[in-house]
Amino acid sequence: MPTFTPIVVPAHNPGPLTGDGNNTYLLTATTGAAVLIDAGQGRPEHLDLLGSHLRQRRARLERVLVTHAHSDHAMGATSIRDAHPHATFHKKAWPGQDERFPVDWQALHDGSRIELGGDSLVAVHTPGHSPDHVAFWHERSGTLFAGDLVMATGSVMIPSRGGDLGEYLVSLERIRALQPTRLLPAHGPAIHEPERFLRRSIEHRLVREGQVLTALASGPRTVQAVTESIYHGLTPALMPAAHETVRAHLEKLRREGRAFVAHGQWSADVAP
Ligand SMILES: [Zn+2]
Repeated sequence: MPTFTPIVVPAHNPGPLTGDGNNTYLLTATTGAAVLIDAGQGRPEHLDLLGSHLRQRRARLERVLVTHAHSDHAMGATSIRDAHPHATFHKKAWPGQDERFPVDWQALHDGSRIELGGDSLVAVHTPGHSPDHVAFWHERSGTLFAGDLVMATGSVMIPSRGGDLGEYLVSLERIRALQPTRLLPAHGPAIHEPERFLRRSIEHRLVREGQVLTALASGPRTVQAVTESIYHGLTPALMPAAHETVRAHLEKLRREGRAFVAHGQWSADVAP
């Protein structure tokens, strides 16, 4: 079997929400077929770099697999289609979002298999960061293309629109059960000790949940008050992200019947 060496093609889109910018991953087979994981944002530097990697390997881009519909992963689809008209575009559907990136999307489902020159990737539905999120599993090498499921350098955001912390934790456990040997995220470096990393990520979220419950124990509180009681002395610039995190925890507890909200005040347990 040939070695499996994904090529990182940076999307050249650094910014406050993307860090150093997104990683997209190019896979080429000896047959000349190529698959790109994530489409970036359509920056010219990304398209040029993609084109030069393909030329060097005499490869043709056949498929673009998109992990989810956030714009830093999906927006580049139209520019890539214009440059590579033979390529097909694949993601798990998120009606209402996918239309923002008008290419002919073909639907992926949990377990969809994507062939690449005798090798294959399997789509793993991993919601939580977004409802449509899929990771791509290359079983032979134990590599998981993790999209925004994990990040080596910080906590993944669970946005109030489309995020679900309960689903997210289930997705982390699901990935853990695959026993991957490396995770290749869409932001930041590779993660080479997935078991330890995933265990810590799950523990970290449960510790945070405990802090939220403690904050609620002394009576009803706003998201703001819960956040301030947990994140003492956080710099103001990071406060909005902390609010989102606390809100995600509160929503998880509410869905589980362990917290309720009335008039913007959150309380532990269920409504009387
Ligand atoms: Zn995202």
